[in-house]
Amino acid sequence: MPAVDAIRSVEAFIISIPRDVPYLGPLRPGETINAKGYIIRHGNRSIYPSTDMSVLVKITGESGRVGWGETYGVAAPQAVTAIINELLGPVLIGRDPGQPVVIHEDLYDLMRVRGFFGGFYVDALAGLDIAIWDLFGKALGQPISTLLGGRRHDRLPAYVSGLPKATLQERCDLAVEWVAKGFKGIKFAAAMSDDGIVAEMAALREAVGPGIHLCVDLHWKFTSGEAIRLIRRLETYDLYFAEAPCQPEDLDGQVLVARGIGVPLALGEEWRTSFEYRPRFERRAMSVIQPEIGHTGVTEFLHIGRMAHAFHIDTIPHASIGIGVFMAASLQATSALQRVPYHEYQHSIFDKNLAYTTGDMACANGFYTVPTGVGIGVEPVDAVFNYVVG
Ligand code: MG
Repeated sequence: MPAVDAIRSVEAFIISIPRDVPYLGPLRPGETINAKGYIIRHGNRSIYPSTDMSVLVKITGESGRVGWGETYGVAAPQAVTAIINELLGPVLIGRDPGQPVVIHEDLYDLMRVRGFFGGFYVDALAGLDIAIWDLFGKALGQPISTLLGGRRHDRLPAYVSGLPKATLQERCDLAVEWVAKGFKGIKFAAAMSDDGIVAEMAALREAVGPGIHLCVDLHWKFTSGEAIRLIRRLETYDLYFAEAPCQPEDLDGQVLVARGIGVPLALGEEWRTSFEYRPRFERRAMSVIQPEIGHTGVTEFLHIGRMAHAFHIDTIPHASIGIGVFMAASLQATSALQRVPYHEYQHSIFDKNLAYTTGDMACANGFYTVPTGVGIGVEPVDAVFNYVVG
């Protein structure tokens, strides 16, 4: 089989795009932006950047074609760019982008001896993997959904993720606005439910009325017993799914919750490989998975999505802070899967950053448009490089 191209160079960039209101909404009492630009959110004990931070990956072939990838840069992105620029980039020189899965397997193997099965290392692999698939698609003149077995969906239902407003009344008003725009699914972040999670659910249901899919992200805050008691109360307001109630280390707890509640349990945004998903599939620890392509790359995303299909488990992909490159890859890969009731829509990120990519990717009237261009279907615009830092 002749090579489609040969990789000539690999570069990774840290992008930091300012935003007016931090992700997850205005700062709560006691929350501040520290000297390095990070915020600790007390509601879920997690650290976030105050800007939209991301890692952009550029792979250039001997043909001159460029493949674009992106991975998580929300915290210490220098770790990821060091892995790409210092370690993996040089290894990729000369490799054929027509072999994305082979390359992904080879790179994953390189650090097994040192125990790197996840975290920053696999994020770096994800960014490279997306760029290699993009280059492959461009070499063949096809969108990557075609290379992945064929596009099943040109549009994907989008659920609105997060209501980043300071008060419950404002969050209810915002939910009603999204319903008026044609969106049928909305998820609220319990970490921001200052008036109580059940009160927030009740108020949102009252505001949007019946027939809207209301979901809650519980941000790993509860023991399994606490989660079951809480979710069963939320069910009385017709909850669509409950996300991430227990700490990811507690597999038995996840299984207890999945069995103890009457609505789908959704998990998986923080897992990066099929190895992490497999025991959860086997134990039926959830009935919806939420793979994040910024962590998995295209190769593992598809692998995980096909495994979910075999277990009769739905896939509702995660969406996170990025400039739109891994978002496009996620829509491409999701469009090749069968059981995808929704894809997450981070409106406060997606809409703001859509200007930083080319192509026809869009989200309106409750649906994403899967980009139609070759490769992942979008490219960063030159203005993105005004936001390179570090
Ligand atoms: Mg979440």
